[in-house]
Amino acid sequence: MPSRKFADGEVVMGRWPGSVLYYEVQVTSYDDVAHLYTVKYKDGTELALKESDIRSQSSFKHRKSQSSSSSPSRRSSSRSRSRSPGRPAKGRRRSASQSREQKDDKKKTIQETSLALPVLVLCIGFCKPSENNTKRYNGEPESTEKNATSCTILEQKLKPDLEIKHVLEQYSLRSRRDEKKKEEIYSEKKSFVAVKPVEKVPTKTKELEFGGRIGTFMMIFLLPVTVFYLLLMCKQDDPSLLNFPPLPALESFWDGKVFGVFLLWFLLQAVFHLLPIGKVVEGLPLSSGRKLQYRINGFYAFIFTAAAIGVLLYLQFELHYLYDHFMQFAASAVAFSLALSIYLYVRSLKAPEEELAPGGNSGYFIYDFFTGHELNPRIGSFDLKYFCELRPGLIGWVVINLAMLLAEMKIHNLSVPSLSMILVNGFQLLYVVDALWNEEALLTTMDITHDGFGFMLAFGDLVWVPFVYTLQAFYLVGHPTTITWPVAAAITVLNCIGYYIFRSANSQKNNFRRNPADPKLANLKFIPTATGKGLLVTGWWGFVRHPNYLGDIIMALAWSLPCGFNHILPYFYVIYFICLLVHREARDEHHCKQKYGLAWERYCQRVPYRIFPYIY
Ligand code: NDP
Repeated sequence: MPSRKFADGEVVMGRWPGSVLYYEVQVTSYDDVAHLYTVKYKDGTELALKESDIRSQSSFKHRKSQSSSSSPSRRSSSRSRSRSPGRPAKGRRRSASQSREQKDDKKKTIQETSLALPVLVLCIGFCKPSENNTKRYNGEPESTEKNATSCTILEQKLKPDLEIKHVLEQYSLRSRRDEKKKEEIYSEKKSFVAVKPVEKVPTKTKELEFGGRIGTFMMIFLLPVTVFYLLLMCKQDDPSLLNFPPLPALESFWDGKVFGVFLLWFLLQAVFHLLPIGKVVEGLPLSSGRKLQYRINGFYAFIFTAAAIGVLLYLQFELHYLYDHFMQFAASAVAFSLALSIYLYVRSLKAPEEELAPGGNSGYFIYDFFTGHELNPRIGSFDLKYFCELRPGLIGWVVINLAMLLAEMKIHNLSVPSLSMILVNGFQLLYVVDALWNEEALLTTMDITHDGFGFMLAFGDLVWVPFVYTLQAFYLVGHPTTITWPVAAAITVLNCIGYYIFRSANSQKNNFRRNPADPKLANLKFIPTATGKGLLVTGWWGFVRHPNYLGDIIMALAWSLPCGFNHILPYFYVIYFICLLVHREARDEHHCKQKYGLAWERYCQRVPYRIFPYIY
């Protein structure tokens, strides 16, 4: 049995990955399998460290005091300190008490800088310790002191009120006037990005979300029940909340032919995805530092699908077959997503530890099955999660909407679809086309970077999106709603506002994550963080902390309004979506707090509202 040297709760000194700096940390847990300690830094950042990167405080202090008298690094650190803007000017005579104070200061450096994680990256990126220093590093705290001290230039930034201002001034491109300086800033930004990402090795998931094991167990049953409940309600003449639909015979939910069509659809989309067209891009670095490659051809898949549907319609294929067998299609999708989730879980048991999802590695079967155990399950180069996120379900959504439009025309003998149906179809088509057109942006979302692929995403992508997001169009087939042109125009304006916020916020963040030195982002300010990434504090991300969610919610409202106010059912989407995004936002905040610690708190101080300005 492996013995562990440090106990939970023990306060020790932990090395900051990729650097020679040690900080005071508290051990929160130990992973027997990976032999890694999870430690918490004073600013809240949590990392997994090897035992060799941890030292007891007492040994650290002992070595440090030895080194303070004789280390050559000490001399160079004094030089470094004298260059610091926060220190007395060069040449000014130091009193004996001042130098004593400085000695004490140095002894305290480690503790002081433990508060400085968010600005450490500047030290690593910009202070550029001399090669000698780096070479001399042998893992001993002696050189740690030297490097830490050489970075005391940053101590000034620790003063809370000054920190953001100072940092922003340093990076704000707006504050620099001439082009030369602008170039300097870009190169600074580049070196900021070039900082080695913190190597974070996944450990066991300790904080369970979604109500833990009981919550996830219930959801595996409740989610399919909700889908069928909504669809059955929608088929009723009076879909009032308390008017429960009669339960149809169980066998009526299943149709082998429908399941065949569903499989054919899935395979067709897989073939489109495998076509060697469209560029191949790299995703964000994984915890191991590796980057996966993704083929971006979702928009082509959409065009090919549109062409295939066009051919089917030309050949007189009755697309409202989808409407007639909607319930059976939903049942097929549920069965398929369940089978896929089981396959995903079984294969994840053989996946190496570093390929498991940070949020789906609790060791509890139900929880990991629901949230997704493996982060990026692939068959060869075919990425199952990435494929399911945007193809069968999302493109299926617009095809179902079109089927509803044709069914409405057929059932109500219309030569043109109703204005409400046109709006719902148009708005949602825009949303889907946008997602496919900006497919690359998916690579920076939580679904890809944090969540594993399990029941939650398989069900969400293949059942929830195509069968619940089409609820408004499905509702309109059975419950015709007339709206006037001015009302239609007002709803369209609302949708455009939502879309504008959603798109520009997502693009701003995505472009910034991909290339912070992009000249198009020159007017934006950001807070640097210890991980090497920045947090935007102006533009949309300075307005609220999740502007993209705000835009999405506004659009969701615009999709429901064409259905009038007779029933609450078509508003299910917007109500559910607010709950989803409020919960998702809380999850994201929690992850960001762990990732960015103090820098995230500063960001929250600066941008106090989460989604709705002045409300939430
Ligand atoms: P986001 O695209 O909002 O990404 C959140 C991440 O952005 C954070 O984890 C952080 O990651 C980064 N970030 C946060 N604040 C800042 C900042 N100030 N500056 C720079 N980066 C920042 O997350 P989602 O994946 O939840 O959403 C993506 C889109 O998908 C949204 O538009 C959302 O509305 C939509 N969506 C739609 C759903 C639907 O069913 N229709 C469901 C869920 C989402 P890091 O720092 O690691 O880069």
